[in-house]
Amino acid sequence: MTQVSSDNVVVIAQRNDRERDRLYTILTSDDIVRTVRGTGARKHGAKIAPHMEPLLYTHIMVARNRGRGVVTFALCEESFSALRTQVSLFTTARSLLLAVERLTRDNMTVPRLFSLIYVSLHSANNIVERTRCIGGADTILLWAMFHTLALLGWPLSVSRQCVQCADAAPTHCVFDVAALWCGRCATRARHAQAISRDVAALLHIFATHTPHATHPATLAKVTVPASVRRETRRLLLSRIRYVAA
Ligand SMILES: [Zn+2]
Repeated sequence: MTQVSSDNVVVIAQRNDRERDRLYTILTSDDIVRTVRGTGARKHGAKIAPHMEPLLYTHIMVARNRGRGVVTFALCEESFSALRTQVSLFTTARSLLLAVERLTRDNMTVPRLFSLIYVSLHSANNIVERTRCIGGADTILLWAMFHTLALLGWPLSVSRQCVQCADAAPTHCVFDVAALWCGRCATRARHAQAISRDVAALLHIFATHTPHATHPATLAKVTVPASVRRETRRLLLSRIRYVAA
């Protein structure tokens, strides 16, 4: 028997399947990651295709038969348009979503994941819209990741000194307590990762900017070397893996 249901979902990813279909990975409003089929979605003029692009927030109807879901209707409710015009933000937002996808299996309930992704995309989008600053896009993205981590229950404790002893400059990110510690204190931590001075400074800048910063332009002017961005991204993604494991 076929059951039809409707929901608002975040499209996480899409891939081609068979000659004319696409498989979509979606995150449902009750935090479940599912794969649904878009029958004929690769055909020219397919109605659902433009509404099922990755990073869209879409109202869909799914016909389910023997556990398999087929999308029968899709209408994009929010396109995060500012976010999608910024290539670097979009690319990294996608890598964030792919990390989420790797961490989750089909039909697996992931507490708070839906609101986490939706709110993160939404806030990144809003900031881009306000600043219109392409040079600052990576910086804004890092900020969005901090917001994401705070939503995961990980507001980072950062100061210019070791949060533990206050004597020395921080040199390690300690994942068990979500704080920056000096090397001596970090030897007592279970999950510590060495970070460079630049990353410590960058984390400090972000931690002292509140999520809805009233001065996004100040944030956008921060220039961040590519190597620092890469290292910070690696640290943040390893934290997400640690939280989700
Ligand atoms: Zn210390």
